[in-house]
Amino acid sequence: MSSDEFPTDRPAVVTCGLPYANGDLHIGHLRGYIGADAFNRALQTLGQQSAYVCGSDMHGTPVAVNAEEEGVEPDAFALDWHQQYEATFPQFNIDFDNYGHTHDETNTDLTQSIVQDLDDAGYIYEKPVQVAYDPDADQYLPDRYVEGTCPYCGEFARGDECDEGCQRHLEPGEIEDPVSSITGNPAEYLERPHKFFRVSEFSEYLTDFLDNLEGTSNARNQPRQWIEDGLQDWCITRDMDWGIDYPVDDGDSEDLVLYVWVDAPIEYIASTKQYSERVGSDQYDWEEVWKGDGEIVHIIGRDIIQHHTIFWPAMLEGAGYNAPRGIAATGFITIGGKGLSTSRNRAIWATEYLEEGFHPDLLRYYLTTTGGLQQDVDFTWEAFQETVNGELVGTVGNFWYRTLLFAYRNFEGTPDAEVSEEVHERIQDAIAEFRDAVNDYSLRAVGRSATTLAQFGNEYIQRHEPWKLVDEESEAPRASEEPSGDEPRGTEQAAQVIRDCVQIAKAVAILLEPIAPDTAQGLWEQLNEDGAVGETLLEDALRAPPETFDEPSELFTTIEDDEVAELTAKLEDRIATAAAESADADDDATDADERETDDDGANDQAAVSDLEALTDDRIGFEDFQDLDIRVGRIETAEGIDGADDLARLEVDIGLETRQVVAGIKQLHDLDELPGEKCILLANMEPAELFGVESNGMLLAAGDDADLLTTHGDATVGERVR
Ligand SMILES: [Zn+2]
Repeated sequence: MSSDEFPTDRPAVVTCGLPYANGDLHIGHLRGYIGADAFNRALQTLGQQSAYVCGSDMHGTPVAVNAEEEGVEPDAFALDWHQQYEATFPQFNIDFDNYGHTHDETNTDLTQSIVQDLDDAGYIYEKPVQVAYDPDADQYLPDRYVEGTCPYCGEFARGDECDEGCQRHLEPGEIEDPVSSITGNPAEYLERPHKFFRVSEFSEYLTDFLDNLEGTSNARNQPRQWIEDGLQDWCITRDMDWGIDYPVDDGDSEDLVLYVWVDAPIEYIASTKQYSERVGSDQYDWEEVWKGDGEIVHIIGRDIIQHHTIFWPAMLEGAGYNAPRGIAATGFITIGGKGLSTSRNRAIWATEYLEEGFHPDLLRYYLTTTGGLQQDVDFTWEAFQETVNGELVGTVGNFWYRTLLFAYRNFEGTPDAEVSEEVHERIQDAIAEFRDAVNDYSLRAVGRSATTLAQFGNEYIQRHEPWKLVDEESEAPRASEEPSGDEPRGTEQAAQVIRDCVQIAKAVAILLEPIAPDTAQGLWEQLNEDGAVGETLLEDALRAPPETFDEPSELFTTIEDDEVAELTAKLEDRIATAAAESADADDDATDADERETDDDGANDQAAVSDLEALTDDRIGFEDFQDLDIRVGRIETAEGIDGADDLARLEVDIGLETRQVVAGIKQLHDLDELPGEKCILLANMEPAELFGVESNGMLLAAGDDADLLTTHGDATVGERVR
């Protein structure tokens, strides 16, 4: 890695987060793959040697769990998805130089060799660990096989990550109130020897690494906090069959496979190696990238920052590999303010988008230029239409078409003139904007360098009114007219203006290519340029286009209102269906804010042995006022059949009596509760638990669900302020 600006004279590799070979791709997934593809193309436009590699993530418990449900072997299950992804990516012009998968020989060998290197260097040790176990299924419960409560934030979490709460990676044994996802029964913890990677020894190295890391600020700031809190060593083995075998044979480890997050990022290296072997190392040398000082750029979702900024660089450093130069972590795509959900069909599917007949470049443009990379983007068809019709059709498409049509009609191509100084300088500015945008890891700014130049072109053509400058004896043609077929009749002044505009059009094509490669190539061909615009360097934006070209056609199509209305209705229907199902359990990794309503008051209490850190996020008084907190009196309390912890209570809050479900059955003598005052969050969304509606949340503190109350004369129904 270096700190020289792009382009450097060292080879680069760009990666995106590996697609998990587990289900259909939706637009939330595509944001990362398209983003990394655009970034790689932009690097190449700068003249940087760069490869874009990735592969399917085949291992881990979600694949094993889902394959089991379908009654197929995990390798066949994962391979099937892998092949579907391979077929989908080109349809969005996502152009991988190599796309492998984590179960192939290259990755298996490389993973085992890296783990061996770490072991040889003394970074791996064995330690007994509490492993969740399902006695009914007689099976250990690694990762997704177990669910429970995050020990850090108290949110619902899966075995290895708190994806709906604090986003932390969770180690085996950490999850509280463990429940088997196989049988739904409470799990036991059993002690087992496992292998650990000494991440804690890399604190200083990682601090330094983060100080030099480029990319988005979220990929630096969050990990700094984790390092400050103290890094824990990382359990890198699991009790299961599906995965890459732990390579060091020391007797104890023969049943263990490596944790999926060990071999998944190594696929970045394996895939680069496969590419290098295919084209020859004289063309592209994977070892120069990964073991020398090449430029490594990861584009990932913000939910996997910890894996990429802590574990991954520590592994690379420990095994003697090069460190990433830049990590850009994207926000999520949401619909109706909620995370996309595969299992609830709350998504726009990749194949569905194409079936609606939209060009892939439209989605590429929308996903890369709407908001910054770090921002969450709430997808609506209206916003998509507005962006496409405004920026692509209205600005870029309109400029391209009117320029080329006018040039074709009046000059049969590029007029014979020099580009004016004003336009030359404006294109130079756009080139500089593009270069800065790439070095800032801002795809939005890459896109803007093209659209603002096209905007300038529109203003320029409007300002100079070339249609008034052509032979005044004849009728001036308009962009909207059919070609006349007449002989060229341009004047010198019109030639100058149109010469400038054709140059701008060519420059816009080069600048827009990383984002909208297919459309940019279309313009390229209309200009009669040779070769691929994708292989054209930024500086060529100032080189003269061919002298002649044919009549142009429009490259973007307006999205009509009735089409959007239809798609919106379809999506709203889908959101409503998903919401109706939201009380059910879900296994999608990007669902946020769904579980809260499934919880009752007392279960929200995290059983932390240490006190939770105070949150830095302050709220305003208005936010507090949004909480309708009331003094209540418990009227009745009884257990709920079939639920271990839950009790049904009736709570008088003055204006009415509420039925509330609370997780206090084992923690209180229920007979003692009637008559006790309590504090109730009255405007909590109702939720149904074990068939009982809970209409409010009792406030409680600590492991024992100690109910909050008042100590003075506050009367039932009074608001807590
Ligand atoms: Zn958490």
